[in-house]
Amino acid sequence: MSDQPTITGSCLCQQIRYELTGDPQIRLLCHCDNCRKATGSSFMANAVYQKNQFRIVSGEELLKTYQDNNNSSGNVLSRAFCSNCSSSLFITNSLNKGMLVVTSGTMDLGQAEWVPQVEVFCKSRREWLPPVEGTTTCNEVEIFR
Ligand SMILES: [Zn+2]
Ligand SMILES: [Zn+2]
Repeated sequence: MSDQPTITGSCLCQQIRYELTGDPQIRLLCHCDNCRKATGSSFMANAVYQKNQFRIVSGEELLKTYQDNNNSSGNVLSRAFCSNCSSSLFITNSLNKGMLVVTSGTMDLGQAEWVPQVEVFCKSRREWLPPVEGTTTCNEVEIFR
């Protein structure tokens, strides 16, 4: 397919491992309430890929999925996580079945390697948190359409 670099990733307990091939469509921060609940943190930092760029290498049997149908985007998000260590791994979307949103925190990356391009649900952004320089900020979720 391509000779682009492959990113590897894993959950915290490292039983679930995955690989990504090629570049993401976009790298984003999401400030919505559901992403905060799902991460237990202040926002989510994810990259959007096509499903065929993603492959589970090990631990697939430990994956569990939470059907998040009470979110501001108005469709069903399947939030996949490790049932052993609870790491949030990826999100799929009922409206765009070819799309896969992968959590950047589970990627094995160098310190400077991952920079967000877009921020979404900025009206829910924590007040202490300024916009990231160089990102395009928006409140709409056209990215998920
Ligand atoms: Zn795990
Ligand atoms: Zn969100």
